[in-house]
Amino acid sequence: MKKALITGIAGQDGYFLSQLLLGKGYEVIGIVRRNRDMRLGALDRLPKELRDSIDIKHGDVTDSQFMNGVVKSSEPEEVYHLAAQSYVGYSFHNPQATFETNIMGTLNAVNAVRDISPESKFYFAATSELFGTPENAPQDEHTQFMPRSPYAISKLAGYWLTKNYREAYKIFATNGILFNHESEVRGPEFVTRKISLAVARMHQGSKEVLELGNLNSRKDWGYAKDYVEGMWLMMQHKEPDDFILGTGKLHTVRDFVEGAFAAAGMDVEWKGDGMNEKGFHNGREVVRVNQKFFRPLEADNMLANYDKAKHALGWKPKTTFSELVKLMVESDIEKSGH
Ligand code: NDP
Ligand code: GDP
Repeated sequence: MKKALITGIAGQDGYFLSQLLLGKGYEVIGIVRRNRDMRLGALDRLPKELRDSIDIKHGDVTDSQFMNGVVKSSEPEEVYHLAAQSYVGYSFHNPQATFETNIMGTLNAVNAVRDISPESKFYFAATSELFGTPENAPQDEHTQFMPRSPYAISKLAGYWLTKNYREAYKIFATNGILFNHESEVRGPEFVTRKISLAVARMHQGSKEVLELGNLNSRKDWGYAKDYVEGMWLMMQHKEPDDFILGTGKLHTVRDFVEGAFAAAGMDVEWKGDGMNEKGFHNGREVVRVNQKFFRPLEADNMLANYDKAKHALGWKPKTTFSELVKLMVESDIEKSGH
């Protein structure tokens, strides 16, 4: 039986990746940061028997001794390093914590592989944020990086560490440069889930107003479940390499809002513009813009050219934007009991 170690297993991608790997017969070992209630994040949504089949190790990726110990005791064939301070907005407020986890955590993970289990394959969760605001779209694996946030800068270090260890120490170290991917277990601070949760509550009768930042921001949004398949395929490829995964389609935050309300059977009418733009449903204000949710800098124009993954791995996204919006809203409505 193959063994896989997943750091950050309690996050969104860990939730889907662990199900994929368990389904393929892997033994899964997962690192979860300890919290007071010993909760397992998104994994708490897994059926009990699946969750119980995962070997959870509580600890922090910034602790090199802990990382070495886990790699030594588990001897995994594949290491998926997903743990990160993954929220761009927060990285502007706390660049130090972002760097500690995303850079030192990655160094510890890749060092543990190099020093203790050099036959293990290593996956690093890189990101389209590396591109910042590129002049040309779409971007491929040769596009220049221009990071525009502390998060992106930290991930750039992880990307180069991975590449450097591949070349210097000949370990199988692969970068997945993934564009935004969302799901019904996406963290509630991300805009897609913030919208789907608010729309579900309004569908249930809440009279709240959904406050958002830049409605014109455009992202290449896909479904996380499709993307973890791409991660696994990268690890089965004959050579370690860098691969982009995305959809090749851009949508605005406003598109997501409209799709979410539509999925709940509610229409939205927009009035005003700029900071005064508002969304109304049946004459009631349901969306407004709040300066608080703007970023000091925005990464824009990020659009995936995933041809390399398509040809080398046979990967392509399966879920459309409207299917994604719908499944997120329907899941949140169902969870809220209506
Ligand atoms: P999540 O934020 O949902 O999951 C990350 C997990 O890492 C969380 O469970 C978090 O635990 C854990 N973690 C954070 N810091 C530490 C630490 N110091 N030690 C141990 N665990 C830690 O992210 P996703 O699942 O969405 O993303 C997975 C990876 O892919 C991340 O590295 C992210 O940056 C990257 N990525 C994601 C994209 C996306 O659109 N989702 C796009 C491109 C890249 P806790 O709950 O305790 O904070
Ligand atoms: P990111 O792409 O990883 O930063 O994912 P987010 O979901 O946090 O943000 C996606 C885009 O939505 C960014 O361009 C944000 O500026 C924009 N956005 C607009 N309003 C909001 C909001 O209220 N919250 C968040 N998180 N993002 C918002």
